[in-house]
Parts: sequence; structure tokens; C-alpha cells
Amino acid sequence: MKKLTLICLSLLLSCGAAFGWGEKGHNTTAYIAQKHLSCKAEREISRLLDGKSMAYWSSWADGLRSDERFDFISTWHYANADEGYTYATAPKLPTGDVYTAVQECIAQLRTKGQSDSLRAMYLKLLIHFVGDMHCPMHAGHASDRGGNGYRINFRGRDMNLHSLWDSAIIEGIHGWSAYEWAENIDHRIPRKERKAMAAGTPLIWMEETVVLSHSIYAATPQNEELPRSYVYGFAPLVEEQLLEGGLRLAKILNELF
Ligand SMILES: [Zn+2]
Repeated sequence: MKKLTLICLSLLLSCGAAFGWGEKGHNTTAYIAQKHLSCKAEREISRLLDGKSMAYWSSWADGLRSDERFDFISTWHYANADEGYTYATAPKLPTGDVYTAVQECIAQLRTKGQSDSLRAMYLKLLIHFVGDMHCPMHAGHASDRGGNGYRINFRGRDMNLHSLWDSAIIEGIHGWSAYEWAENIDHRIPRKERKAMAAGTPLIWMEETVVLSHSIYAATPQNEELPRSYVYGFAPLVEEQLLEGGLRLAKILNELF
């Protein structure tokens, strides 16, 4: 029985279920956002989240995959754009994608007279999906299911490009906890620079992630051992995506609340 469970688990992992940033990436994004909330937004968010932190709920949406009541959000974690496409020109998922998910959560939170329980649900989803929107392989090619079908070898392990970018690369850069990640990459950023990083709209951020995704495919040899320089070469990009995700989430929440 135990063996069967292990086989199922390894099959699941080799299929590379698309979970977005791993828990560490989502927690880091949420910690950074929480640090940049206005007092008013922080009070209202804390009330809706039962006094728990945003990081506490940041991966909640991934846990809903086994709950059929939430089947309607199953494609909300990612968008796809094959080579030669932007987000705007790529064929769209009829059931929604990470960009439409962020828009829907914002619209729901703006709706007057919405119940607290629905507001809390859309807030938890928004915290997660802004993180996913900044995860490059969540804007990967449709033809290989966002990098799930793109095999690579990373430090002696066969895996796919999607899993590498969800969590293995984060773990490979620093051995920090999510809290340490947030503290270190958010350390003393001048206000002007912070504002510039948070500028733009969800559509612009989505398009940026598509561009990053294309450049990652171009720089990642398929079916080969990745060079040792790969992780450190991409470290600034990973740090920037986590930081921007956090600052932009704070900006959305400060505007909403
Ligand atoms: Zn996700």
C-alpha cells in the first residue's frame, strides 16, 4: 500500500502538477505585501482573515484543487502563451486564467454590499493569484502545459521546467525561510524605487511575465543538465519577481481597502 502511494506520488510529481510558486514563493510575496499595507488596509484585511496573516492564507487556493466546489477556479492559476504570442494575442482558456482571476477577485472585492465571507474568500484568492501571476512558468507555453512537458536535469535530478521554476530554483538560490526571503529582498528599498516597481496594471504585469517566460525557454536547454551558472544567473530575476509580486499586491490592496 505504502509502495502504491509512493508510485502515485512520484507519478504526480513527474506530471508536475501546476501549483504556482511553491509555498515559499507565495509566503514571501504575502509577507512583503503585508509589510507595505496602509494602516487602514491592514485593519480591514486582518478582520476579514480572522486575525491571521496574509502568508497564512497565501497557498490556500492550491489546497482547493481537491474540493469540487472550487472546480470553477481550476484554471485560474496560470495563463498560456506559446512562442511568438503575447498574453493579448494568445488563445484564451474559456474557463479563465490567472489574469482574469486577478481581475475577478478585484471586481468582487469592489462590489458594494458583498458578504464578509465572500470578501474573505476573494481576498485569499487574490493573495494567491497575484503571486502566481509573477511566477514565469505560469505564463508558459500551452504546447508543453506551462513547461510541464519540458524535461531538464537540475543538479542530477530529472524534472520539468515548471517544477524547477515553481520551487526548486527558489530553494537553490538561498536556504532562507520565506520570512528571511521577504526581509532580505525587501530591505530598505527607497520609496521612489518601490513605487516604480509597483507601477502598472495587472495586464502589463501579465505581459511582463510572458516575456520572462519566453526568455527562460530560450535560456534553458531541453533534456540536458543545466549549467551550474543557471541558478545564480537567474537569481536576480527570481528575487525581482517575488518582490514585485509583493509590492503590487500591496498596491492593489491599499487601493481596495
Ligand atoms: Zn496557484
